[in-house]
Amino acid sequence: MKKIVILGAGTGGTAIANKLRKALSPSEWEITVIDRDDNHVYQPGLLFVPFGLCTVNSLIRSRKQYISHGINFVIDPVKRVNHERNMVETDGGSFDYDWLIIGTGCRLAPEENEGLMDEWGKNAFSFYTTETAALLSNAMANFNGGKLLMCVAELPVKCPVAPIEFVFLADWYFRQKGIRNKVELHLSTPFPQCMPNWPRGRVIMMDAARNKGISMSTGFALQEVNKNGKFVQSFGGEKIDYDLLVIIPTNAGDQVIVESGLDDGSTFIPTDKHTLKALNHKNIYVIGDATNIPTSKAGSVAHYEAEVITHNLLAEIKGREPEPKYDGHSTCFIVSEKGKAYLVDFNYDTEPLYGKYPLPFAGPFSLLKETGMNWLGKLGFEWLYWNLLLPGKNMLLPPTLVMAGKKEQPE
Ligand SMILES: Cc1cc2nc3c(=O)[nH]c(=O)nc-3n(C[C@H](O)[C@H](O)[C@H](O)COP(=O)(O)OP(=O)(O)OC[C@H]3O[C@@H](n4cnc5c(N)ncnc54)[C@H](O)[C@@H]3O)c2cc1C
Repeated sequence: MKKIVILGAGTGGTAIANKLRKALSPSEWEITVIDRDDNHVYQPGLLFVPFGLCTVNSLIRSRKQYISHGINFVIDPVKRVNHERNMVETDGGSFDYDWLIIGTGCRLAPEENEGLMDEWGKNAFSFYTTETAALLSNAMANFNGGKLLMCVAELPVKCPVAPIEFVFLADWYFRQKGIRNKVELHLSTPFPQCMPNWPRGRVIMMDAARNKGISMSTGFALQEVNKNGKFVQSFGGEKIDYDLLVIIPTNAGDQVIVESGLDDGSTFIPTDKHTLKALNHKNIYVIGDATNIPTSKAGSVAHYEAEVITHNLLAEIKGREPEPKYDGHSTCFIVSEKGKAYLVDFNYDTEPLYGKYPLPFAGPFSLLKETGMNWLGKLGFEWLYWNLLLPGKNMLLPPTLVMAGKKEQPE
């Protein structure tokens, strides 16, 4: 019996396990998925928790129910990958493998940001984990005026558009509460222009922020949170004060990656950006946020990658070479207020353009345009996630960017 072991039953690990189970005979291939717990969180929903638009509990489901029959699901923290002996060690045992797929994602590391732990859960909150999103929801409800600073500590960060979505929704939220004139909203980000290098997209986002009265500090890499002075300071010496600090702390790869000597010094795994194979390892693929490839750390990316890795792993099993099929494709809705959103679709070489998605001319979603339909798409994505993407169903859409119907100018 040949063995595939998958580390992490998150977005990427679950989807690829289910795809491989369909493609490989259970009498020849054993598939094992290992995660430290049984709580699968629909992470995009965390954005809505601070605004009372959903609860943390509604976003959590048992991982088990999304892992197909015929896959061994082990709940046990992974302690080490012994890649020289093709073996994974957990708290409770060890698992040898012919092929390893690493989908351990990335974790929040607030302890990496000087001074942050002094404020964590008191005046500084994040919406990136279930615990801190719930705390932030209370802090927002009790905030009656002052300066709210949304600070992105450093890059990379998963879902790089979520911080701007947060300030857009905060503008809407405080308008609903009737206290927008008492709240100053400020976004600080290490991106030079508030967003990844997207000339068209960032102009649209900067204009939208300006129109909503949201100020920004770009190129701001966090050095310190100063509890006594109630300010954050960048490595460049710039200081921004706050009354309520909403922060995306350092995002890091899992410690097991570092301790197994699999990272490149950044806590992420050096990965071929087209084949998705771990560099220097002949039997390891990497999916999702754990890679160091230069595209967004996003669920959409993990889904597109699952198709490419499935294709390449099946090819290698049949004795063929993996193909450089992945192009960095990523698709993200960007909420601009309750009821409206933008949509971006891009890859390594093509910045977000105008047009329609997913059908090139019919949509129904509009690229780089703020529409109510895009908002419905953002909400509908949750259904798609649980019912089609995690089960590894064939989406009938290519994993790579479709250029048909894309335009440089709006209609
Ligand atoms: C607030 C927020 C909003 C977001 N919005 C969007 C969005 O709108 N669209 C979008 O596409 N993406 C969005 N994302 C990003 C998306 O959720 C992630 O990019 C995606 O989940 C990554 O999938 P993954 O499989 O790499 O990691 P994950 O889904 O995080 O899974 C990693 C798994 O590995 C397990 N693991 C890690 N280390 C170990 C260990 N040592 N032992 C055992 N198990 C381990 C973890 O428990 C976890 O289950 C958002 C994320 C956040 C936080």
